[in-house]
Amino acid sequence: MATHIVTTTEDTCQYCGGDGYNQLLLGGSETCQHCKGTGKSKQKK
Ligand SMILES: [Zn+2]
Repeated sequence: MATHIVTTTEDTCQYCGGDGYNQLLLGGSETCQHCKGTGKSKQKK
């Protein structure tokens, strides 16, 4: 029985899901302001 564990990467920015940008409802995308487009959370511990 394989256990699929969804590991929550603490480094991943929650606001953009690690993409570094957010999709706009009107179309297009904008750089995530929280991670500055890196997709990583700067929060360290
Ligand atoms: Zn982000």
